[in-house]
Amino acid sequence: MRALFSVVFFGIPLFLLASPSSRTANVVDRRAIADEKQGDNWLSYGLTYSENRYSPLTSINDHNIKNLGLAWYLDLPNQQTLEATPLAVNGTLYFSGTYGRVFAVDARTGHKLWEFDPDLAHYNPRKLRLSWGGTRGVAYWEGKVYVGTNDGRLLALNAKYGTVVWSVQTADTAKTNAQVITGAPRVFSGKVIVGHSNGEVRTRGYVTAYNADTGRRLWRFYTVPSAPPRKGLQVAMEDMAAKTWSGDPRNWAGGTVWDSIVYDPEFNRVYLGTGNGNPIDPEARSPGHGDNLFLCSIVALDADTGQYAWHYQVTPRDSWDYDATQQMILADLVLNGRIRKVLMQASKNGFFYVIDRATGKLFSAEKYAKTTWADRIDSDTGRPVEMPNARYEKNSKNSIRIWPSAAGAHNWQPMSFDPALGLVYIPTLKRGMGSESLKDPDDGTGALLAWDPVRQRKRWEVHYDTFWNGGALSTAGNLVFQGTGRGRFIAYRATSGEKLWSFDVGLGVIAAPMTYAVDDMQYVSILVGYGGASGLGMDYDYGWRFGEQPRRLLTFALGERNSLPRGMPPRFTVNAVDDPTLSLDMRQASKGTDIYNNVEVFCVRCHGVNVESRGSIAPDLRESRLALNWQAFRAVLRDGTLTSAGMPKFDDLSDDDMRAIYMYIRVRAREAAASARK
Ligand code: CA
Repeated sequence: MRALFSVVFFGIPLFLLASPSSRTANVVDRRAIADEKQGDNWLSYGLTYSENRYSPLTSINDHNIKNLGLAWYLDLPNQQTLEATPLAVNGTLYFSGTYGRVFAVDARTGHKLWEFDPDLAHYNPRKLRLSWGGTRGVAYWEGKVYVGTNDGRLLALNAKYGTVVWSVQTADTAKTNAQVITGAPRVFSGKVIVGHSNGEVRTRGYVTAYNADTGRRLWRFYTVPSAPPRKGLQVAMEDMAAKTWSGDPRNWAGGTVWDSIVYDPEFNRVYLGTGNGNPIDPEARSPGHGDNLFLCSIVALDADTGQYAWHYQVTPRDSWDYDATQQMILADLVLNGRIRKVLMQASKNGFFYVIDRATGKLFSAEKYAKTTWADRIDSDTGRPVEMPNARYEKNSKNSIRIWPSAAGAHNWQPMSFDPALGLVYIPTLKRGMGSESLKDPDDGTGALLAWDPVRQRKRWEVHYDTFWNGGALSTAGNLVFQGTGRGRFIAYRATSGEKLWSFDVGLGVIAAPMTYAVDDMQYVSILVGYGGASGLGMDYDYGWRFGEQPRRLLTFALGERNSLPRGMPPRFTVNAVDDPTLSLDMRQASKGTDIYNNVEVFCVRCHGVNVESRGSIAPDLRESRLALNWQAFRAVLRDGTLTSAGMPKFDDLSDDDMRAIYMYIRVRAREAAASARK
């Protein structure tokens, strides 16, 4: 508003002519982020504090969607995994890319305003080993953009210039391999809060709130108790949590808050979704007994102090990697004739939870996907009624196929809630784990599910042959948008699931779309960058190959007809590079397999299971000429010759270890070359 006071139009100060909505939109404060009615801006990761990803904009709707076309695209060279939902703040889009990069883009034209590189490879190259580089988003507050980097820093950037205002190390630096940040920070009341990832490597989960202006640390909450309990106000809570563990307190770890953190302005609380423990087998981490609070839980804290308010443990004594980190949506629902303030989660474990935000008590929980580990959630105790043979650690001989898999029935890909229709749109994952003999035809597929959270039942479902797909966006234009693993960006009629529009984006999508308006023109944007866990390989191959399809931000508007230059089409063959004169040492290769998959080294995270890079963020090493040349290969690991390209340094490995990995790659390449000749 600053300039408006001095500008006078026919004797009337211009700011008086501006509409109230456009004036308030210039201020990004707690009220603006809570405002469900303004849709021009997208101010927080999930749009508003309710995180419902439901836009009130109606310019693009089910009647005119056929006129939706590409308005502009922005190529993002050197980017890989793109998971973020961009923010729209007064005509500028802000988003995080790979390896902590942050971009600011003119929302009308796609013109890049600035790009920030936190130089992760230089700052802490070992952290690169434990992440896919993906970051799900940024936060915005009073002229600053906040990002958590994979090396564990929380940075405040000047929104206009992309320069660093302050930086704090929020994740542990001593364990260089352990904690990384992939989730979006959230802001409220002048505070910015962030968690971290990687309960898999025995790190204790926590969130920290900082002064948004200065970066001064305000409070921290640990999701797993210390032993003996820390002194202070939280000692009762710590005692309660500690009683749910047994054995060596050094194993009390996990519960990382790697994705969902929601601020609730009505109760002035933050809700955390916490991850699994490590080891995954509860007998190993807490022998004999114990629910292990606060693993796989939803925890409510006072937003000002970080003091514990309540918790609901979604999966007690987790055995299956059922993190409760999935997005939580706040809503008012009419339940049994009364308006209730609820929190909703389509949890990884296959149940859709509706929880009372006032008390943390369960209203209802039903299966929204195939779920065999539990029969139901007991409505009195709020606890799952487990199937007798679901705990594999007690049934090693008599294992059953457990649904859902460790990837969950729903993962981080955001869902969306249309409060007018009363439907939640959930990107679901269909897969079981355990015994291979009972495979279901749906194993390895996915869906977009429209779920009625009041009746707890399905309204409609669109099935995909792809397991990994993107997040959902719903709008008051009776539309639901989603991108798919095969590279289609699709709009459905929200009421029926009828497919109304589709666009070939040339690469698999895992991010969620968003929408905004500038000068009364509505746009829909989506980041296109297949990768992350989706590229790990497993059974899924949609033909995306490292470096063959460009990463991009795409933006659509009515009446636009721009075309998108194509990358390479999907490829399902392997162009293995082999030197037949090299004699293979199988013992070395076998040792190399172990190192390749070791949690401290983790080649597998980026280069794929069995050295098969199916859409991963790193090259298929069977196709790499560099990986054929032992000297060059060793230089990459020992000297870090490719750190700037995102390839970490492994100077802690011995020459023998490096040679073992090299030999494992050579064996896999020769196998691929042989099968290509068949
Ligand atoms: Ca997990």
